[in-house]
Amino acid sequence: MYNVFTFIVPIITGIIVIILLLLLLRKGSGESSGRTSMQPQVFHTSCPLCGSGLEKGQRVKSVLFKGVPDSMMEIYGCPHCYPPNKNIKRICPVCKEELDPESIVIARAFLKPDKTHVHVLGCSTCYRRKY
Ligand SMILES: [Zn+2]
Ligand SMILES: [Zn+2]
Repeated sequence: MYNVFTFIVPIITGIIVIILLLLLLRKGSGESSGRTSMQPQVFHTSCPLCGSGLEKGQRVKSVLFKGVPDSMMEIYGCPHCYPPNKNIKRICPVCKEELDPESIVIARAFLKPDKTHVHVLGCSTCYRRKY
């Protein structure tokens, strides 16, 4: 009996270690997939209006108007440039003009399951001028 146990105990220990490793690996991959599902929340790595780099958690203030087939988005600015201040100018990515404090940028939003693609159409001034 003694000899049998000396063989079985290391085998059982080995199996337990393998199970623990598998659990750890599964937990790890679960966390990383959770991280990727968080990514669509990050709107821009830099502000489209003032070009300021945005840290994690800093978001560009925008309002989404869902529509079919395309959704429209109003972009106000990031924490650096909105509310409007004299230190950081908000520049329209289309006409390159400085935005008035009451101006906003209008964009078309393509909502996809993995990522929202935003196509900037122009600011209140240059976008409405065309129509
Ligand atoms: Zn900004
Ligand atoms: Zn413009």
